[in-house]
Amino acid sequence: SEKDIATPKRTKAILEKYGFSFKKSLGQNFLIDTNILRRIVDAANVTETSGAVEIGPGIGALTEQLAKRTKKVVAYEIDQRLIPILEDTLSPYPHVKVIHGDVLKVDVKEMVNKEFENMEDVAVVANLPYYVTTPILMKLLEEKLPVRTIVVMIQKEVAERIAAGPNTKNYGSLSIAAQYYAHAETVFTVPKTVFVPQPNVDSAILRLTIREEPPVQVQDEKFFFEVVRASFAQRRKTILNNLSHHFPDLNKTEIEKVLQHSGIDPKRRGESLSMEEFAKLSNFLIQ
Ligand code: SAM
Repeated sequence: SEKDIATPKRTKAILEKYGFSFKKSLGQNFLIDTNILRRIVDAANVTETSGAVEIGPGIGALTEQLAKRTKKVVAYEIDQRLIPILEDTLSPYPHVKVIHGDVLKVDVKEMVNKEFENMEDVAVVANLPYYVTTPILMKLLEEKLPVRTIVVMIQKEVAERIAAGPNTKNYGSLSIAAQYYAHAETVFTVPKTVFVPQPNVDSAILRLTIREEPPVQVQDEKFFFEVVRASFAQRRKTILNNLSHHFPDLNKTEIEKVLQHSGIDPKRRGESLSMEEFAKLSNFLIQ
């Protein structure tokens, strides 16, 4: 509605009332389009019984739309200056809790277990600060948060890398790192014009649907991800050359044998391997 926080007029009035100046270093680009916000909330498939976790509420644009459609919202905001503003803008929504803190430094899992104890359905929904997108997403995924889905607005290129499959230019270790924990898809792209100030990059909505079990069985997760990263270290090199460079203690003919044993031509490039092939390879390589 016209009274929503995320209209250009209301946003301007709030920023002026508090004399707020944007901090570029904190990735502060606020959404001023309620239609886009509604589509972000739609993408998370939440209901009146859902819980929502938000990272970086800003002045509360997305928080408000989440509050209208869920049972409870908990939001982490790093910028102390925004805390009194949020208290004001979100005062009509008593089921919203704002926590002042750096999401990278807090125990999100403990918070979810405590704040959403009796809720079956919890979603993370956020317009992420772009300077820390990957660390935040990897933290949420690696911690194995008890949530159903993560819907985030991020830089378009990063969303494409996360959702990419084998034999595409965007496919890399980040694709596998994310897809090991979740099914990843870009839902829609967003023009720069829906933000103040406008960012320099295009944005997209990424949906991560958390898997109950990993899609592949690996003996040692850490080693699996190490093999994946090593295989993509130099994209133009063969998988054999990348691996023998990364594991100098292993004999090159040994690695060649393991590759062949895994059904992988040593001349292939990392970008052609599926997650299943990486799993097989790392399981053989660790022995
Ligand atoms: N949700 C608002 C919106 O959509 O208009 C603001 C989104 S803005 C892209 C990112 C927000 O994240 C900012 O409010 C910023 O202060 C906050 N932020 C940046 N780094 C953070 C961190 N490490 N932990 C929590 N919040 C952070």
